[in-house]
Amino acid sequence: MNRYRHVHELIGQTPMIELTSFALPNHVRLFAKLEFMNPGGSIKDRLGLRLMQEAIDKGKITKKGTLIEPTAGNTGIALALAAIGTDVNVICVVPASFSIEKQQIMRALGATVIHTPTELGIKGAIAHALALELEMKDAYCPQQFHNPVNPITYYESLGPEIVRQVDQPITTFIAGGGTGGTFTGTARYLKELNINIRTVIVEPEGSILNGGTVGPHRTEGIGMEFIPTFVNQEWFDGVYTISDRTAFRRTRELAKKAGLLVGSSSGAALDAALQEASKAPPNSILVTVFPDGGERYLSKGIYEEEID
Ligand code: PMP
Repeated sequence: MNRYRHVHELIGQTPMIELTSFALPNHVRLFAKLEFMNPGGSIKDRLGLRLMQEAIDKGKITKKGTLIEPTAGNTGIALALAAIGTDVNVICVVPASFSIEKQQIMRALGATVIHTPTELGIKGAIAHALALELEMKDAYCPQQFHNPVNPITYYESLGPEIVRQVDQPITTFIAGGGTGGTFTGTARYLKELNINIRTVIVEPEGSILNGGTVGPHRTEGIGMEFIPTFVNQEWFDGVYTISDRTAFRRTRELAKKAGLLVGSSSGAALDAALQEASKAPPNSILVTVFPDGGERYLSKGIYEEEID
């Protein structure tokens, strides 16, 4: 077994699992990258470290400065984790409706949580964070929705890990889009290796990628109110819009059938991946990403059967 000296060394190098408990066409295989195995519990741990490093390296803040970030929670947790063992302060600006567990975890890791009204969405949180950045001294808002470090992080870490772990030609990559950083960075890495790979993005209802209008959804972490500048829409070889009901049902199935306790953005990704698998030619290899764990959504009733 490896031994470590700091929690930051535990970020990345997450396991890849082949999903064998779901019906797939013959000779089609589906793999999932288990990002809830990161120490802060999500895919965003990879980004938190990079955003903090960038802020200090580029002189945006001193080593005692403050990072302020609008977040649905996981990026806030990731920044709080990144700041462990440093003198950097972290303020997370979170729309009030997001899961209480994620807010408690941010505080447990030493961050300050500020709420913005749910009805103002992530745009409201962004506006509040930018206003705070102007007001405060030695403060910087990394802006995951605009910062090119976001996709670069996944280009440099997630993409190569996936290719190494699958170790066979990947035919389809399926990932949820929140900021689009995971999808954009990984799709770019995979397309550079094989221009014919199919890269597919997943959103909840209430997101705009399939021409829908912005609306509320219970699936946290995915869904776009606007398209961030770094997102390359040419790589949307498919866009799946998955209802909350389907995403939650798939999430419960992942727990019961595969023993994987994941959040509902993973359930949405699974549903899209199974739809892709059902029309994939023989010998296809599909890879998706499970961005976070389910335990941070217990208060949202993630594992409760829905009442019709
Ligand atoms: N799922 C969850 C649970 C998330 O927190 C996020 C991050 N917003 C995503 C999926 C999507 O990641 P990205 O922002 O890289 O598109």
